[in-house]
Amino acid sequence: RYDYKKADPKLWGAIANEEKRQQNTIELIASENIVSNAVRAAQGSVLTNKYAEGYPGHRYYGGCQYIDQVEQLAIDRAKKLFHAEYANVQPYSGTEANLETYAAFLKRGDGILSMSLNAGGHISHGAPFSQAGHLYDVHFYGLDPKTERINYDQVAKLAKKYQPKLIIAGASAYSRIIDWKKFRKIADAVGAYLMVDMAHIAGLVATGLHPSPIGIADVVTTTTHKTLRGPRGGMILSQAKYAKRINHAVFPRYQGGPLEHVIAGKAAMLYEDLQPEYKQYCKQIIKNAQAMAEVFNNDSQVRVISGGTDNHLMILDLRKTNLTGNDLQNKLDSVNITTNKEVIPNDPRGPVETSGLRLGTPAITSRGFKEADAAEVAKLILTVIHHFNDASALSNVKKQVHQLTSQHPIHD
Ligand code: PLP
Repeated sequence: RYDYKKADPKLWGAIANEEKRQQNTIELIASENIVSNAVRAAQGSVLTNKYAEGYPGHRYYGGCQYIDQVEQLAIDRAKKLFHAEYANVQPYSGTEANLETYAAFLKRGDGILSMSLNAGGHISHGAPFSQAGHLYDVHFYGLDPKTERINYDQVAKLAKKYQPKLIIAGASAYSRIIDWKKFRKIADAVGAYLMVDMAHIAGLVATGLHPSPIGIADVVTTTTHKTLRGPRGGMILSQAKYAKRINHAVFPRYQGGPLEHVIAGKAAMLYEDLQPEYKQYCKQIIKNAQAMAEVFNNDSQVRVISGGTDNHLMILDLRKTNLTGNDLQNKLDSVNITTNKEVIPNDPRGPVETSGLRLGTPAITSRGFKEADAAEVAKLILTVIHHFNDASALSNVKKQVHQLTSQHPIHD
């Protein structure tokens, strides 16, 4: 039998090394997770061989009878999980899902009001250098400088001033509950559509641990690879009345053949997310994040933006430590703790250096970390901060990281 790993050692060596890296590091990137074998098997299946432009029952290629079953399963499960009237499971990514949603509801030059990048918004919400920034007239809201939470009055004022056609709620780096109803009111007052991008918190929404935007927003987008714990990709959920325009925006406007192997992975993920254990998992994600935040809050130099977290992530304000987010991210990499630098509200440094660090608990929770482990991880991060150039302290941290990852192996 052809041994592909022997034949192509460069590729398979790199993949094997990545597997080891994941096994041996504490993964705190808030947008990452560790998927099940079922998700990986579905995504690695023969479905990758198939073209299936169109939608179940209406394809532009023959031989789609089983593909149709797979995609319909994903659609039905997504609708059930989120109590949505309509689901499109074809978006290749979260960014695609967002661009497709804009295309479904807006014309070139129309106005968008969304959260600014340095308040925690996402590039695809219309940052000047993004495609949405080129196509639409985008204005941004920020956070209240005192509470570091969304200032709904400011959003309302900006909506009144700019009269956007679409308001976007949802973020990549915001640790508090978002009040969708307040956004709905603001949108209604100016006759705007309301879109929610729940990419980060979708798992918490699915399990009732964060209020759901379904039935409040006109349209909801999400990624599938974050708290939902599925393959990399996107989904769009909406009311049945918008089905036609969203379907058309996804295919043929923005995409070609759907990645049916990834859609199979989404179906496998949705099956898991509908099980009772998934809710326990999501509860533990929040408990772990809160256990970490508590440790940081007791430190004199590090501060958690907004004072804590209601969800799976937190942003550390590092200004008092004199370290940049970039310095700390790199140093943590050297002790096998993976994180990402993050701008803080009104960051005096730019996005390359940053004054913040974003931490999230979905991945460590997937490998069985509980509150005590999470608190231990926060203490290790503080040790790195306070002993930044102390080789022996850092080597000790690395040993403790190894102990934690060995106690909680990623099961194959
Ligand atoms: N929307 C939000 C809120 C995100 O945080 C992200 C990614 O981090 C995306 C969209 C984009 O997802 P993708 O990387 O799949 O394009």
